[in-house]
Amino acid sequence: MNLTDLKGVGEKTESRLNRLNIYTLEDLCNYYPYEYEDRRTKGIFANKYLAKKCTFYLKICSTPRINYKSKVTLTSIDVFDGHTYGKIIWFNDKFSPMKLYKDKEYYFYGKLFYSNGYELINPIFSETVMDEIVPKYYLTEGISNKLLRKIILQAIKFFDFKNEFLPDEIYENFGLYNRKHSTKVIHFPKNLDSLNIAKKSVKIFDLLKEICILNSIKENNESINSPIIKNIDLDIIFSKIDFKLTKSQIDVIEEIIFDLKNKNPMNRLLNGDVGSGKTIVSIIAMIICNQNGYQAAMMVPTELLAIQQFEKYKDLIESLGFSVSLLIGSTKDKVNVKKRLSSGEIDILIGTHALLQDDVKFKNLALVVNDEQHRFGVLQRKKLALKNKGVNVLTMTATPIPRTLSIKLNKLLDISILKDKPDNRKPVVTKSFNINSELKLFDLIRKNCRKKNQVYVVTSSINNDEDKNNVELLYKRFIKYFKDLKIEKVHGRMNSNEKDHIFKNFLEGKSDILISTTVIEVGVDVKNANMILIYNANRFGLSTLHQLRGRVGRGEKQSYCFLISENESDKKLKIMENISDGYEIAKKDLELRGGGNIFSTFQSGKNMDIINSLKISRDEIDLAFEIFEFCKKNNIDFNLENYFIENNGGIILN
Ligand code: ADP
Ligand code: MG
Repeated sequence: MNLTDLKGVGEKTESRLNRLNIYTLEDLCNYYPYEYEDRRTKGIFANKYLAKKCTFYLKICSTPRINYKSKVTLTSIDVFDGHTYGKIIWFNDKFSPMKLYKDKEYYFYGKLFYSNGYELINPIFSETVMDEIVPKYYLTEGISNKLLRKIILQAIKFFDFKNEFLPDEIYENFGLYNRKHSTKVIHFPKNLDSLNIAKKSVKIFDLLKEICILNSIKENNESINSPIIKNIDLDIIFSKIDFKLTKSQIDVIEEIIFDLKNKNPMNRLLNGDVGSGKTIVSIIAMIICNQNGYQAAMMVPTELLAIQQFEKYKDLIESLGFSVSLLIGSTKDKVNVKKRLSSGEIDILIGTHALLQDDVKFKNLALVVNDEQHRFGVLQRKKLALKNKGVNVLTMTATPIPRTLSIKLNKLLDISILKDKPDNRKPVVTKSFNINSELKLFDLIRKNCRKKNQVYVVTSSINNDEDKNNVELLYKRFIKYFKDLKIEKVHGRMNSNEKDHIFKNFLEGKSDILISTTVIEVGVDVKNANMILIYNANRFGLSTLHQLRGRVGRGEKQSYCFLISENESDKKLKIMENISDGYEIAKKDLELRGGGNIFSTFQSGKNMDIINSLKISRDEIDLAFEIFEFCKKNNIDFNLENYFIENNGGIILN
């Protein structure tokens, strides 16, 4: 069944859904809300309800009064809650108040303010009682929350949940809901208790899925041999690197060498904060494989990153007598690359998921490196690992794993941590600014660019009309203000050729300022860029802000991160000002969000893999492992095969 088979979804709506990364009914089912509005919470006009969103039952005491103030229309109405008088104010909405009759009573849902008395601003209202818990979704133009809910309701009805991962009794035994029921409750909760169980079920389910996969890889690895690695000459490699490796880097290289020498394949996760220098560690591991006559491959999430890694490490690899090639969607002589790969002429291949195509065949692959793993699905990882039985796998990520989880995962997966950063780094000076001080920041940008430094400008939307700081408007503002500088913009709706071209210009120093959405978030390494401005900073999660900040401070220059919002004393932004360590930030992130609200960091619920289990509580982690052990002990099969059947019907897990 296709999206367009759903009522209310035509081609236009389909393409809008695609923009939210929704392509199938399953995607719709997994498109979790980022928060809920509990409209059952009742409020009255009293201080203790200030700044909270509640439902108020109010009598209308006047007819609407309309005031025009420059570009804004202000309409107000007097209301009475039985004890206290107050006002309802509508900005730029003359029509809603016209629907309300004097002396009648209505339910209003909104946040209570106090200025000249109690006020509600642009509330939602109805004649009948509001007793719903309403999920809020990330939206895009043309898709309202209401429409999305209608579509999701149908998707849940029609999606085939037949292939449950676990037998129903297990869910029941452990007080959880099965997949279908939890999906229903997450999108249409009746009360908070069942909503909490549903959320818990989904988190545990996703962690459990990951545990099962790691376990199956581990069992598989224990039964097969990996390529024999025994000749290792580190000194010659070190002699070609123009900086001194940190102690952590050397320790991790030793851990990797230990694994490579082992007769079974390695499955190791390399965890280190942004800028800690993970890439060089993986390049060394690949070269070690080359020294033993084997090939190695590195898979990265974007073409840009692939090009960048290729250009950056090409000289090093070639200076040691090995050959390296790039394979991405836009590679022109693909046939030739594939030929040289299968004949063994290419020692190291760097690429995107293009590496996963069936016709990409290696002669003797010994190691696969996955960079910035959180953008890859479990399936893709597994698929690449299977390209050659016995292949070693090194996965790299900057997202910290909480200790409680890593202790348990350690039994299934080896984890290395880069604890220290290269010591030539200066902490990034981070400061939060009110949008009103934009001109002051412009001066700083100008001074910075005069010194031939480059600047990133990041914001949260491309052309959302309600956002004065969307990419398009910022671009207009910047080219008007900085007439002498070269300014370019880039965002997710451009095609990848355009994007790469603009990134490349920035990389090569051909542009001074790059204005973008978060497409720059992952891995990009432009040493000459030492300043990043983040508009609408309060709309990003702490970990995204930290990732973005990680784009600067990658060399010896003093770097700056300016967080711009309407509220410069926002708690989140203060944390960014004061903390530079990724692990500490992740901890704060957890505290701020609280254990329950796990859905807000990722755009869609897809592939909530290990990393997102970060937001899972300790008890939930324990429960997932408990269920896993229970099933193992009682020989209960996880329905892995059904779960991991590829689109073409082939089973990935063997
Ligand atoms: P990440 O861990 O975020 O992937 P990278 O591997 O991209 O970080 O490294 C960031 C930058 O630091 C790169 O330009 C890299 O060449 C440099 N680098 C890595 N290790 C060291 C080191 N020991 N000393 C100095 N610079 C280093
Ligand atoms: Mg990296």
